[in-house]
Amino acid sequence: MGRSFDVVVIGAGPAGYVAAIRASQHGLSVACIDGWTNRDGKNAFGGTCLNAGCIPSKALLESSELYHRAQYEFKKHGIQHAGVSMDVSAMQKRKAGIVRQLTGGIAGLFKANKIDGLVGQGKLLAGKKVEFMPVSGEPEVLAAKHVIIATGSTPIEIPVAKYDDEFIVDSWGALDFATVPKRLGVVGAGVIGLELGSVWSRLGSEVVILEAMDDFLAMADRDIANDASKQFKKHGLDIRLGAKVTSANIANGEVNVGFETADGASSLAVDKLVVAVGRRPFTDGLFADDAGVTTDARGFVEVDDECRTSVPGVYAVGDCVRGPMLAHKGSEEGVMAADLIAGEIAEMNYAVIPSVIYTAPEIAWVGRTEREVKAAGIEYKTGSFPFAASGRAKAMEQPGGMVKIVASKVDDELLGVHIVGPMAGELIAEAVLAMEFSASTEDLQRTIHAHPSLSEAMHEASLAVDGKALNNVNK
Ligand code: FAD
Ligand code: NAD
Repeated sequence: MGRSFDVVVIGAGPAGYVAAIRASQHGLSVACIDGWTNRDGKNAFGGTCLNAGCIPSKALLESSELYHRAQYEFKKHGIQHAGVSMDVSAMQKRKAGIVRQLTGGIAGLFKANKIDGLVGQGKLLAGKKVEFMPVSGEPEVLAAKHVIIATGSTPIEIPVAKYDDEFIVDSWGALDFATVPKRLGVVGAGVIGLELGSVWSRLGSEVVILEAMDDFLAMADRDIANDASKQFKKHGLDIRLGAKVTSANIANGEVNVGFETADGASSLAVDKLVVAVGRRPFTDGLFADDAGVTTDARGFVEVDDECRTSVPGVYAVGDCVRGPMLAHKGSEEGVMAADLIAGEIAEMNYAVIPSVIYTAPEIAWVGRTEREVKAAGIEYKTGSFPFAASGRAKAMEQPGGMVKIVASKVDDELLGVHIVGPMAGELIAEAVLAMEFSASTEDLQRTIHAHPSLSEAMHEASLAVDGKALNNVNK
C-alpha cells in the first residue's frame, strides 16, 4: 500500500487544480495526479485550458486582432505606416511562452500549498483507492478519504473527417499551425470554430465554416446572433449554415471536403481542415471495473447538484460532468466539492454562469435568452442599447453591436443579459454580479456608471427596458 491522503484529485485542469488548492486551504492533505503530455513530450499541469484551450487561443486572438487592426484601423486614427507583416513563428513563440509561464505557475502553486503534484495517470479503484501510474517508475496505490475526478474532455472525432493531425486537425492542431493556411475549412460554427476561424482569417486565410444547424449560434439570443453574424460576414468569415459534411479526402496536399446543403451536394478544397464539432467527456481508462462510479449514455460522470457521484466520498467536476464545458464552471465546481469535503456549506449557482466568445466583436451572455423566457411562459420585457450610440465605443472605433436585457414584467428581476460588441467578455461581469444578487433592472438603472465607458451601454439598456434610455431613441 502506498501513501494516503485526505483528498486525491485526478486531473489538474482548471477544475482539478483549483479543487486541490481549496482542499489544501482547508488543511487537508492533497495529491493531484495529472498525465497531460505536450507535443514536445513534456508534462505540464493546467489541462486543456492552459495547454491547448483558453489561454493559447486567447494569445493568438490578441496577436491576430492587433495585426488586423494595424492593417485596417490605424489609418482611420491617422497612424501612417509603410505596411505591416506577420511573423507567425514569433506569434507562436509568444503564445508558447505564456502557456509555459502559466502551467509552471500551477506547479509553483502546488508547492506553495503543499500539494503533492503527481505526474502520470490515475485510475479509480474500489474503496476510494487510486492507482497512480507515474510517467517513470512503479505504480502505487494511494488511499484517499475523498476523491475528486476532474479528467476533463477531448475533441469529438467524426467518422467522415478523421484527424490525421496534418491536414485534418482538431483545435489543438489549429492552435499550432506554423504558417498561415491559404484556404482553411472549419467544421462547426461553435465557439471553437468562430474563435480559431477568426484567428486565421485575420492573418490572411480564406476561411469557410461549415455548420450543420440552420440556426447560427443556437445557444445565443437571436438578436445577438443575428448582429454577430452580420459583423462576421463583414470581416470576411464565410459561414455556411445547414451544411452537413459528408466526406473529407486528403489528396495532392489538400483536403477535398464534401458537404450537403438544402441546395444539394457541394465540395470545397482547402489546405487545412479544422474539425470543431464539440467535445466529449474524457474518462478513458479511468475506472476499474468495480470502481462503482456511473456514467450516462454520453459518457459524462453522473453527479448530483453538489457534484457527488454514485460512490460516497467520490466527487466529479468540470468538463467530465454535465453542464457547460467552461473553465470557470469547472473551477467553481472544484471549489464547491473541496468545501463540501471540508464540511462546509457550499453550492453552485448554475443559473448565472457567463459565456464568452472571444471573437471581434466579442459575444457574452448570462442567464436566459428571450426565446427561452418566452418558451417558459414568463411575462417579460426587453431593452437594448447599440454601441453605435456609445461615445466610448466610437472613440475605440468599435461601434458595432449592442447590449440587450431580458427582465421579468412581474417583478422587474433580470433574467438574461446579452452582449455583442467591444469588451463584451468584461462587461458581462456586471450582469453576472447583478443576477447573483437577484437584481432588478431598476437596480441597474440607479447604479452610476462612469462616463465615457462601455459600461454605460449596460446602464442605457436597463433604462431602455422601461422606455427610458437617454442617449437613444426608445422604440
Ligand atoms: P481539462 O482542462 O481538460 O483538464 C483535465 C486534465 O485531466 C488534463 O490535464 C488531462 O490530461 C488530465 N487527465 C485526464 N484523465 C486522466 C487520468 N486518468 N489520470 C491523470 N490525468 C488525467 N473555456 C472557457 O471557459 N473559456 C475559454 O476561453 C475557453 N477556450 C477554449 C478554447 C479551446 C481551443 C478549447 C479546446 C477549450 C476552451 N475552453 C474554454 C474550454 C476549457 O478548456 C474547458 O472547459 C476546461 O479546460 C475544462 O477544465 P477541466 O479541468 O474539467 O478539464
Ligand atoms: P460547440 O458545441 O460550441 O460547437 C460545435 C458546433 O459544431 C455546433 O454548432 C454544432 O451544430 C456543429 N456541428 C456538430 N456536428 C457537426 C457536423 N458533423 N458538421 C457540421 N457542424 C457540426 O463545440 P466546440 O466549438 O467544439 O467547443 C467545444 C467546447 O469547448 C464548447 O462546449 C465550449 O463551451 C468550449 N469552448 C469555450 C470557449 C469559450 O468559452 N470562449 C472557447 C472554445 C471552446
